[in-house]
Amino acid sequence: MRRGTHFHVTIPDPDAGPVKVSTIRRVAGTFRPYKRTVRVIVAAILLAAMLGVVNPILIKIIFDRALFVPGGVRLDLLLGLVGLMILIPIAAAGLGIYHTYLSNLVGQRVMQDLRNSLYEHLQGMPLRFFTTTRTGEIQSRLANDIGGVQVVVTDTASTILSNSVVILSSVVAMLILSWQLTLLSFVTLPFFLWLMRRVGKARQQVAASTQSSMADISAVAEETLSVSGMVLSKAFGRRHHEIQRFRRENERLTALQIRQQMIGRAFSNVIYAFFSITPALVYLVAGLVNSGGGRAVLTAGTVVAFTTLQSRMFFPMGQMLEIGVEVQSAMALFDRVFEYLDMPHEIVDRPGARAVPKERVEGRIRFRNVWFRYDGPPEATPVSPPDAAAGDGDRRPREWTLEDVDLEIEPGQLAALVGPSGAGKTTMTYLVPRFYDVQRGAVEIDGADVRDIKLESLGEMMGIVTQETFLFHSTVRENLLYGRPDATQEQLEAAARAAFIHERIAELPDGYDTTVGERGYRLSGGEKQRLAIARVVLKDPRILILDEATSSLDTTSERLVQEALRPLMAGRTTIAIAHRLSTILAADVIFVLDRGRVVERGTHTELLRHGGLYARLYQEQFRGGQVEAECEDGLVLASGRVVPRSTDAKIN
Ligand code: ATP
Repeated sequence: MRRGTHFHVTIPDPDAGPVKVSTIRRVAGTFRPYKRTVRVIVAAILLAAMLGVVNPILIKIIFDRALFVPGGVRLDLLLGLVGLMILIPIAAAGLGIYHTYLSNLVGQRVMQDLRNSLYEHLQGMPLRFFTTTRTGEIQSRLANDIGGVQVVVTDTASTILSNSVVILSSVVAMLILSWQLTLLSFVTLPFFLWLMRRVGKARQQVAASTQSSMADISAVAEETLSVSGMVLSKAFGRRHHEIQRFRRENERLTALQIRQQMIGRAFSNVIYAFFSITPALVYLVAGLVNSGGGRAVLTAGTVVAFTTLQSRMFFPMGQMLEIGVEVQSAMALFDRVFEYLDMPHEIVDRPGARAVPKERVEGRIRFRNVWFRYDGPPEATPVSPPDAAAGDGDRRPREWTLEDVDLEIEPGQLAALVGPSGAGKTTMTYLVPRFYDVQRGAVEIDGADVRDIKLESLGEMMGIVTQETFLFHSTVRENLLYGRPDATQEQLEAAARAAFIHERIAELPDGYDTTVGERGYRLSGGEKQRLAIARVVLKDPRILILDEATSSLDTTSERLVQEALRPLMAGRTTIAIAHRLSTILAADVIFVLDRGRVVERGTHTELLRHGGLYARLYQEQFRGGQVEAECEDGLVLASGRVVPRSTDAKIN
């Protein structure tokens, strides 16, 4: 469990008692779309199970009426009965195959639906959920937990039904044959029920621990076998440590799985030992009953038919007892899946939210007295307003990530966010596309609260270029088409040209059809950034959010990225987390953030003249940076020296 975050991920409590009715109801609900097939399955199972009782009855008739009758064997009757005894099992087997096929079909579909709805639900989860949950844990629920319930949904329901019918019909037939023998057969039942409860609890507990252990292993593998994890482990020489960590988790899983297997096996062995003993008891009791003298009360046919029924019933009974245990463990897994399905989406369309076509967006962005913190409930009321005197040197604990941020960006403007690390720049950009919702105040686009605009419209109007470029493991083309799947090849190339990446793509082995490795690792940092820019150019958003990469690229790469960005920013409202001199010089307005508050605002010249935090940051971060940029008079070199525009060619 993760405390202090909004999402509490729990392992089902093994002591929570027997399976919850609500869970069973919900599991049953997942079968609803397949009602018709389920009915056919039920009918086939009932029929097959009923057919199963016929043979033991026929045995009695054969023994008592055809084989051992005074005056010799009645061959004609025997032939007819034997014929029936051959036909019936064949018919039952055919029906069995048919209903097994159908129940597998339904079971697999139910699993498919569960996986789909879980994935769909996860897609709608807020960013907050993913920042507080390990990726491996999420994947484990999608794969291992749903995989774990597979047996139950494909097999168990039909097994329970068919076994119940077999048991019930056998008991009825046994009662008709001899109530005394039937009673004897059931004296051990309470013991089995008690044993089942005990074993069930133990298995449920182990099952829950096993699943969480599997999730841990997935998480370790996911973290350490990813490119970034690998780079970290190699760079720090931690290979041995990581291997040990994996071994420890693996050891724990193995021990748990051995326990899980053993509990089940030991239980079934006890059951089958008991079942093998009971026929002997039946013969003994039959002998005692019949030894009373006079005519035999129990005929040979009755005793043979009875033990046949008994052995026929014991297998399903043992299975049912085990299934009880299995169902309990599976329900623990269902609960884990349902737990995710029940997590609130939090960031959803408000009732009455409007769709806003991209073409109608002007792009005026307003932060209206915004208060925000990561761990807060959606509409919390801020505590006392920030102390007006609290300035740069103030080190009181920060309760709010953003405090009373109030600013406006005109359509088409380039606004640069500048500030020390942790000031809240990235956080501000998260609030515009509603990755998070503000606690108080509002973020507005063209005068409308973003919460009143449909999320889909927000997504369409916005383009985001992040510091770390994420490329899917697929072709360059598919990566580019992500934001606009219907783009033509010409549009694709135009976008790539605008981002100065077309020529590089053309050089790749398969051009636009070259697969870029997971996270695009086969491309250089600058190339990846330009590809990401081309992706956004193709999308043609009205509002651009740009988190400039801090990692310094070489001068040529840097220059190309800069060149690629210029046409992208033109004509759209841009919020840039500025790390480059060129961006702050080009900005129409610069907002300087410090500890969650906007402390200065203005153009570069105004802010320099003001001589505050910006002027200091400029000296520290930008002038010393490996950047060149254009300004009104020409080009600004890394040294801060301005070179007249005519010398541009030399610098290139
Ligand atoms: P940098 O320039 O270093 O990227 P920044 O100005 O972009 O910094 P933010 O990333 O917005 O800063 O972070 C602002 C504050 O919020 C920081 O103190 C950070 O630790 C905190 N923070 C960021 N993300 C989360 C999160 N998911 N949960 C909790 N706190 C967070």
